[in-house]
Amino acid sequence: MSDTIFAKIIRREIPADIVYEDDLALGFRDVNPQAPVHILVIPKKPIPMLSEADDADQALLGHLLLTVKKIAQQENLAKGYRVVLNTGEDGGQTVFHLHLHLLGDRPLAWPPG
Ligand code: 5GP
Repeated sequence: MSDTIFAKIIRREIPADIVYEDDLALGFRDVNPQAPVHILVIPKKPIPMLSEADDADQALLGHLLLTVKKIAQQENLAKGYRVVLNTGEDGGQTVFHLHLHLLGDRPLAWPPG
């Protein structure tokens, strides 16, 4: 099983500003924020990327999205926000433990780069 910096955050081996935790997921602030609110939501299960998730992960993937919604409410992002899931090299993924970016508290341009 591969180990990543996010696995170390789950195990509390390196510090992170954790804003949410339950049995399946963890939410923490991105160390290099791209918006005033930039939170990463990850499964505790080490799925490397979306393209490696399978049918057994259906409920977990839904749980992650609803967790983003909960955290957005917690962060008072009533005007809206963006959820990003970078996948693989062309997707710009740099940490190979599946994660959702929650970005908010500023207007976000479209299309992304
Ligand atoms: P990706 O490019 O894979 O979609 O996103 C990885 C994200 O993880 C980046 O936004 C990066 O700033 C963030 N990141 C990388 N290392 C750390 C870390 O040690 N702690 C935290 N909180 N975020 C990290």
